[in-house]
Amino acid sequence: MSRLLMIANDAAEAAQGAGFAQKLGLPWDLLLLTGSGAADLGAEKVFTASLSDVSPADALASGLQSLAGGYSHIASVSSMASKDVLARLAGLLDAAMVTDVTALDSPTVFKRPIVAGSLIQTVEVLHPTVVLTVRPAGFPFSAASGASASESFSLTGSGSAKRIERSAKAGGRPDLTQARVVVSGGRPLKDAETFEKLIGGLADVLGGAAGATRAAVDSGIASNELQVGQTGKVVAPELYIAAGISGSTQHMAGIKDSKVIVAINKDPDAPIFEFADYGIVADLYDVVPELMEKLRK
Ligand SMILES: Cc1cc2nc3c(=O)[nH]c(=O)nc-3n(C[C@H](O)[C@H](O)[C@H](O)COP(=O)(O)OP(=O)(O)OC[C@H]3O[C@@H](n4cnc5c(N)ncnc54)[C@H](O)[C@@H]3O)c2cc1C
Repeated sequence: MSRLLMIANDAAEAAQGAGFAQKLGLPWDLLLLTGSGAADLGAEKVFTASLSDVSPADALASGLQSLAGGYSHIASVSSMASKDVLARLAGLLDAAMVTDVTALDSPTVFKRPIVAGSLIQTVEVLHPTVVLTVRPAGFPFSAASGASASESFSLTGSGSAKRIERSAKAGGRPDLTQARVVVSGGRPLKDAETFEKLIGGLADVLGGAAGATRAAVDSGIASNELQVGQTGKVVAPELYIAAGISGSTQHMAGIKDSKVIVAINKDPDAPIFEFADYGIVADLYDVVPELMEKLRK
């Protein structure tokens, strides 16, 4: 029988994936890797793995195999980490895989962006088992009724990768891919200190995450994990503020699902203004400090 297993790192990520589960329309269960909760999202059963530390991708995929093997659909919210784990799981299950699903026509026909988001591909899966990563912006969640049954799941897998070090996210800001607000900066941010002061500062005032263009990363202005775009992270916040960003195809590929885009650029002909919902033609060195000051009041 067709059934979905949604795998989430925590309850917050589960809430993001629940809209897809509703849209798919199949009975579904949820596996929470860490924490608990999420009993009100409409899943029939919530499995809790209660991991204190999420294992490297190969061990995690092997630990998921026994549970996931009983499902026709296995899904997670799209992220670098979920693609790493789920691609391995699809291999272990000998299943089909479709990444970055943004819409669906039926439980076997999915839409996903390709060529940096300039084309939408429709994929029909003929295999009985499919592993999916989904972009939640396309799947709004409607309140569900009833509470899920809960069950603990002992997740033990083995792999050849070993985690040597884990570094903390700068300033304890929210994860870029899950943040409701993202403030990103581009090449004109001069240096890391200026980036942190203006882009990090505005992100903090708004309770959001900081992001950057590849040009900013390549120039050493921002760290690699902040890169947004085709070869960086894909974000889908409610508000995306782009300061000193030209709007290259590769950058826009990562922010297309943002609900509201605000661009600050001193060039009125910058391509970003074609995509922005609100545009401020001005020097970011004037606008960003002024915005921070006004928002703090
Ligand atoms: C294969 C490939 C993959 C790529 N992947 C990515 C990716 O994932 N993400 C990504 O971002 N890029 C990616 N790129 C790079 C991309 O093509 C662009 O080069 C990059 O996005 C440009 O970054 P930028 O907007 O910061 O810089 P620029 O293009 O130099 O733009 C800077 C902008 O700031 C404005 N500006 C200058 N000074 C100020 C000021 N004081 N106040 C306000 N505005 C100002 C300028 O008018 C300009 O519009 C990729 C490229 C390739 C070839």
